[in-house]
Amino acid sequence: MDYSVKVLAVTQDTHETYKFAVEKPEGYEFTPGQATCVSINKPGAREEKRPFTFTSLPDDPCLQFTIKTYPERDGVTDEMRDLQVDDELLIGEPWGAINYKGPGLFIAGGAGITPFLSIFRQLHREGSLTANHLLYSNSQQRDIIAAAELKTQFGPNVHFYLTDETVPTYQQGHIDEGVLRGFLDTVKPEYCYVCGTPGMTEEIVSDLKKLGVPEEAIIQEES
Ligand SMILES: Cc1cc2nc3c(=O)[nH]c(=O)nc-3n(C[C@H](O)[C@H](O)[C@H](O)COP(=O)(O)OP(=O)(O)OC[C@H]3O[C@@H](n4cnc5c(N)ncnc54)[C@H](O)[C@@H]3O)c2cc1C
Repeated sequence: MDYSVKVLAVTQDTHETYKFAVEKPEGYEFTPGQATCVSINKPGAREEKRPFTFTSLPDDPCLQFTIKTYPERDGVTDEMRDLQVDDELLIGEPWGAINYKGPGLFIAGGAGITPFLSIFRQLHREGSLTANHLLYSNSQQRDIIAAAELKTQFGPNVHFYLTDETVPTYQQGHIDEGVLRGFLDTVKPEYCYVCGTPGMTEEIVSDLKKLGVPEEAIIQEES
């Protein structure tokens, strides 16, 4: 079933990422980490559904999406840059395999941070986020989504990796097997949560398995 929801507010997070607060349908429920299919409720756009994750908390009065746009692709996210308050989106039922199972190591790339944002907000509210660690990879500092919030929530337990820029206090390069080995040795996580581009996710999951993390301890979106 599709729900038609009005855009209540649009704010910019990074140079290419926007936060959309939208109406929450009556009785609509989701679990932090879940996503839904979204389209713009306009002629010619309704059928173009794309998956996006809820970045609000389940008991917030409205829903929030945090969406990285790709102007160069001429796709749905490019059209979303023009969304205004009172425009409508169509959203479906919530779905998704990512949910919090226990303390661990979160590994994200770019917009792959989105399923974790709602989880972190929930844990932060409950006072249980500090048992977790986050490795977050982006091309440049300006691409980091929710940077200030993550720094405040995680303190010393967040590690930003930049692949295309050198910035003091940020790690330079990819999150590779060596980086993962270091964190597995020191943090000894019960679970590893992975979300990034399909290529990044595949590489990280393969490295984690090589390093001895059992499959059932690796939480990722099902393809
Ligand atoms: C479960 C799930 C949850 C997600 N949640 C979020 C979220 O909360 N926030 C978020 O920002 N993203 C999220 N994503 C990713 C998001 O769904 C995509 O970014 C979005 O579908 C892109 O839609 P688009 O129409 O703009 O571009 P696309 O449909 O990717 O592409 C439009 C056009 O560009 C071309 N194209 C595709 N990829 C490339 C490329 N790499 N380079 C050049 N051209 C290309 C295509 O061939 C196509 O013609 C999620 C994905 C999944 C699977």
